[in-house]
Amino acid sequence: MPLDIVILGPPGAGKGTQGKLIAADAGIPHVNTGDMFRAECAAGTELGERVRSILDVGDLVPDELTIEVVRARLGQDDTARGFVLDGFPRTLAQAEALDRVLAEIDRGELSVVLDFQVADEIAVQRLLGRAGVEGRSDDTPDRIQYRLEVYHEQSEPLVEYYRARGILVGIHADRTVEQVFSEVQQVLAAAQQSGS
Ligand code: AMP
Repeated sequence: MPLDIVILGPPGAGKGTQGKLIAADAGIPHVNTGDMFRAECAAGTELGERVRSILDVGDLVPDELTIEVVRARLGQDDTARGFVLDGFPRTLAQAEALDRVLAEIDRGELSVVLDFQVADEIAVQRLLGRAGVEGRSDDTPDRIQYRLEVYHEQSEPLVEYYRARGILVGIHADRTVEQVFSEVQQVLAAAQQSGS
């Protein structure tokens, strides 16, 4: 059974950090739509030029564009044993599209959806802390606030979407990197057992 993982959670929840660790540990690709869009911007591609101003303000890239990027990525051979999808889906339309993409690549249900739970105040502190280190244009105080609003309005409803399907597991994401990873590993071990 492939290990198909989705990570949900607000900006600053640690999805990227944990996504990388999970992917390295399981030997599956880390598919991070934010990273993919930033790479397109840095490379100055046509897609990058289309999305640059959207990323700068912290709005969501239109669903059609985002879905196509993910469809192309998940269709690559290296996802055969699974993937860690981080930052996608972020809208209900994207979640529904993901179901169609999974069917296209002959997959059944996702193995697990991890809901990284962290209070807004902690997310803000973390994002402000990394602002100087990573130099992201959307890590300014007002953009951080705005991105959290976008998360609560557009992406948080996905928690219920996946909970209703019985594949959602909450993660206490306000702890240290090591503590969170250890909780995630336990959840993944259980998910793999029930799926095999
Ligand atoms: P992130 O690195 O996940 O915080 O994403 C950075 C930015 O990329 C977001 O603020 C959006 O502008 C864009 N982005 C990333 N993933 C998506 C998505 N699934 N849907 C729409 N926009 C996205």
